[in-house]
Amino acid sequence: MNQYEHAINQLDKICAIIKKTESEDSEAELTYHEMEILKHPNRVTEVSLPVIMDDGHLKIFTGYRVQHSNIRGPYKGGIRFHPQVDLNEVKSLAFWMTIKCATVDIPYGGAKGGITLDPKQLSLGELERLTRSYTRAIANIIGPEVDIPAPDVYTTPQIMAWLMDEYSKIRGKNVPAVVTGKPVEIGGSLGRDTATAQGGFFVLEEVLKKISNLSSDQNKKDISIAVQGFGNAGYNFAKIAHDAGYRVVAVSDSKGGIYNEEGLDIEKVVEHKNSSGSVINFPNAKNISNEELLVLPVKILVPAAFENVISLEMVNDIKASIILELANGPVKIDASEALAEKDVLIIPDVLANAGGVTVSYFEWVQNTRQYYWELEKVRARLKEKMAQATNLIWETKERYKVDMRTAAYIVAVERLRKAIKVRGI
Ligand code: NAD
Repeated sequence: MNQYEHAINQLDKICAIIKKTESEDSEAELTYHEMEILKHPNRVTEVSLPVIMDDGHLKIFTGYRVQHSNIRGPYKGGIRFHPQVDLNEVKSLAFWMTIKCATVDIPYGGAKGGITLDPKQLSLGELERLTRSYTRAIANIIGPEVDIPAPDVYTTPQIMAWLMDEYSKIRGKNVPAVVTGKPVEIGGSLGRDTATAQGGFFVLEEVLKKISNLSSDQNKKDISIAVQGFGNAGYNFAKIAHDAGYRVVAVSDSKGGIYNEEGLDIEKVVEHKNSSGSVINFPNAKNISNEELLVLPVKILVPAAFENVISLEMVNDIKASIILELANGPVKIDASEALAEKDVLIIPDVLANAGGVTVSYFEWVQNTRQYYWELEKVRARLKEKMAQATNLIWETKERYKVDMRTAAYIVAVERLRKAIKVRGI
């Protein structure tokens, strides 16, 4: 079974749980045949992208845009530049975006895009030409009311700016709302750069309030955290948690990780990474591998790099009691079920990293209104949205006696099902 089949198989499981629980309270026979629609993406686009490289030769790259569902609003989802990008991965990520937007009640559907390449091998000029080529190739299927891309792994605000600029040239007018995650100078939202991490942090604190006493800073110092990945999601999360008084003991990037059980000074780690190119070899910390980071004796583990990093074979070695999924799909489905049986609390990606799409939504609202909010307002609204979603998922978890991922899916499936029903097939 491939990754996409695994992802959509969860739908049947969720529908069965809802049917079983609801039928105990009601005589009505519940059917979920309309959910079949969500097993098939609405549109799958593969494009060939010609780019003149700096040495003058022509190279063709392959790009994708998968538009999974627009039942609850325009398609929405990031664009990933990575050597492992393939169609199955993009389809799974697009499906998860549909679930995520429904979980946190953002009026969007789900999509995802990607180009198979190693962006570290391209010059800035080559990256710009590639981004513009991709924009031209998908221009007819995106737009502010149709499909709104955003950043993901190895795509930056600068890349979003090129996309916005190329699309605006094609349309003959400024169209900032075609993409989110833009630099603030051209319509980006304050707070979008840290939104995924900040949202995950708000969710984590909401959950901690439910399960532990966090009344003093000393309590926070006692909570150790390991973060895998040191990019937009991982670095910002490590910094926010460290600044809030938690003990961030390990971080990592693609070259490896570092560990100090007394805690790391995240600002100093950034300075070290900026000068040396990696977090590894940081003074007063031990170098560890990315695999070792995942099994450290910490309270909270935050995978914030890639999908499928925690497999069934690792379950017995995991020592964390909470896993906050800032990356998309970092825990394999079978591992997730086994960890839940071991009472490890997994805060699922569709909730934990939904701060990114939530502030993307705020950015799009500001673009369409041409009226921009202060950072405090963005933060306050993000906090409110994350707290609402966390509380509803927690209540659903208690009511259906399921883990948090299943509860989040139940919330999403019910919202999607109602939307499909009222719109009609
Ligand atoms: P990024 O490109 O900013 O950072 C990726 C990080 O992962 C880098 O630090 C890189 O060094 C590290 N990395 C690469 N290969 C690795 C490996 N083999 N082991 C460990 N670390 C490795 O990407 P990002 O935006 O931070 O995205 C990370 C995850 O968060 C992805 O799963 C993405 O889908 C998810 N996510 C991001 C956002 C967002 O707004 N950026 C929103 C939702 C979800």
